[in-house]
Amino acid sequence: MTPAELRALGAGVLLANTYHLLLRPGPDVVRELGGLHRFMAWDGPLVTDSGGFQVFSLGFGLEHGVGKQIGMFPGESSENMPPRTRNQAPRLVRVDEDGATFTSHIDGSRQRLTPESSIAIQEALGADITLAFDEPTSPLHDADYTRQAMERTHRWARRCISSRQRSDLALYGIVQGGAFEDLRKASAQFIGGLPFDGVAIGGSLGKSKAEMHAVIEWSTPRLPPAWPRHLLGIGEPEDLFACVERGIDQFDCVAPTRLGRHGQVYTADGRLHMTSPELKEDPRPIQAECGCYTCATSFSRGYLRHLFAAHELLAYTLCSLHNLYFIQQLMRQIRDAIRADRLADLRDQFLSRYAAGLATA
Ligand SMILES: [Zn+2]
Repeated sequence: MTPAELRALGAGVLLANTYHLLLRPGPDVVRELGGLHRFMAWDGPLVTDSGGFQVFSLGFGLEHGVGKQIGMFPGESSENMPPRTRNQAPRLVRVDEDGATFTSHIDGSRQRLTPESSIAIQEALGADITLAFDEPTSPLHDADYTRQAMERTHRWARRCISSRQRSDLALYGIVQGGAFEDLRKASAQFIGGLPFDGVAIGGSLGKSKAEMHAVIEWSTPRLPPAWPRHLLGIGEPEDLFACVERGIDQFDCVAPTRLGRHGQVYTADGRLHMTSPELKEDPRPIQAECGCYTCATSFSRGYLRHLFAAHELLAYTLCSLHNLYFIQQLMRQIRDAIRADRLADLRDQFLSRYAAGLATA
């Protein structure tokens, strides 16, 4: 996607991964090339995460079959999601009180991140919203380990605040505690009492969507009402409703573009698989009432299916564009519904049609 396309479909904020930028091309190169906004030619707001999630999850998740979004909830089926890469190196991350040492998944080099270096790197990158360095846990960690990681995350939160050099960038704290009620409540209470500008809810959100909802319900009432609340890595249409109703304001998720690249598109009637043989001669756009470039230009389902069959790169662009527009449009409708005090009506109306479509797909 180009920045102009993202602008046109209504995107307001982009997120960049500190872990990936640290390994390649390196924060010094980004700074030399004018900072992250100039580097990627995006003049709107940017978020960088702390790097913690990738440091801990790229090892642990690949080893134990738990990843962000894909297979994130080990208790639920993820059969609609594309297969995950399994032939990666085993976990090579060591955590100590000062920080985490890990092995680059690119060249095998030893790397280290601490609360101080994560903040320094994010400030060098120059995003508008930065995140505290944390130790996320997996749904497979027990209560004892999850508590240790949460307490370490709390000590690291204080160090992140102390090491801040740039007051012009917002800094969000991160609530941890896995799917344990006492830990989540304690973490929200603790992080909510520190001088952050907002908060992200991270780490394991449980083994099911129901547990994720509980995690949010334990956390949000204990956070300062004025803080924006970001839920890390979540963003399917049904999740947006469930999480907004429980007090979440911001989301980031790879699903719209990842699904788009695999030929799955969101519609008001559930997901449509663009590679299905039945679409070969289908003259209709993905969705008649959609205002995105792909649908407004009336690219037919048959044409899009052909692009996938021919491995033509435009297929990925057109489907990603539609999916991103769909999610942006849905969030716009959710914001409007909140202002008009009719969020429950919108949810019932949207989900009854969306779920019925999923059931018959
Ligand atoms: Zn569309």
